[in-house]
Amino acid sequence: MTQTFTVGWLYPDLMNIYGDRGNILTLVKRVEWRGLEARVLELGRGAAGAMDDVDVFFFGGGQDREQALIYDDLREFKQHALQRAVGDGAQVLAVCGGYQLLGHYYQTADGERYDGIGLIDVKTEAGKKRFIGDVVVRTEIDGLTPSTLVGFENHSGRTFLGPAAKPLGKVIQGKGNNGSDKTEGCMQDGIIGTYMHGSLLPKNPHLADHLIARALRRRGGGALSHLDDSAELAAHGWILQRAQRR
Ligand code: GLN
Repeated sequence: MTQTFTVGWLYPDLMNIYGDRGNILTLVKRVEWRGLEARVLELGRGAAGAMDDVDVFFFGGGQDREQALIYDDLREFKQHALQRAVGDGAQVLAVCGGYQLLGHYYQTADGERYDGIGLIDVKTEAGKKRFIGDVVVRTEIDGLTPSTLVGFENHSGRTFLGPAAKPLGKVIQGKGNNGSDKTEGCMQDGIIGTYMHGSLLPKNPHLADHLIARALRRRGGGALSHLDDSAELAAHGWILQRAQRR
C-alpha cells in the first residue's frame, strides 16, 4: 500500500455535476493540511488500476444519459475491486446518480432499469416531478459536530432503504431520499450515499474529516489535527439561515 493518501474518483468525465469536483478538492486539501501527501486516481471506463490503494472513493452525480453510459462498466470493471476495498476499510462517498448505482437498481421515469452493484441496500425509481433545492439534514453519524449537513438536491429518483442500510440523517429542509419518509441518504459499512450536491464537503468539513479519519484508521491513523474551519462553517451557517427563512 502506497504511503500517499489516495482519493479514487469514479467516472470524473461523466459523473460530475453541480460542483461535485469540490468534494475531491476538499478531501485532498484537508489531507495535505495535515502534512500528508495526497493524490487523485481517476477511474474512468474500462479496466481500473490499483483500486486497492484507494483510501476514499468519490462517485458523483449524473443525468440518466450519463448513468446509462457507465452502469455496465461499473458492474464489469469496478464492482469486485470496490467490494474488496470497502471490505478492507476504504471509505466511499457517493452523490445522487452515483449513490443510486451503488444500490440494487435505478429505474428512470420512462421505466428503463439500470442495474446497480448492490453494495448498499437501496433501490431507486424515478418519479415525474424533480426534487430541486436546498437540503438541510440532521445527521445520524455519532459525535459529528455540527450535527447538521447542508447541500443542494436536483433529482427525479426516489430512493428507498432496505434493512441493511440506515439513513445518513433526517430531512429538516428539502425532499431527501423520496420526499415522503423524511430520510436522506444512507450509511452502510464504509459507504455514505446522499442526494446532496453543492458541492457537499466544502460546506461540511466535519463530514470530510469523518471520511478521512475512518480511512486513515486502516493505516493506524489516530485523531486528525484541528483546522480553522471558520470560513467553511460560516458558509454552512448561511445555508441553515436561508433554509430557516424559507
Ligand atoms: N439521473 C438521476 C436522477 O434524476 C440522478 C441525478 C443527479 O445525479 N443529480 O435522479
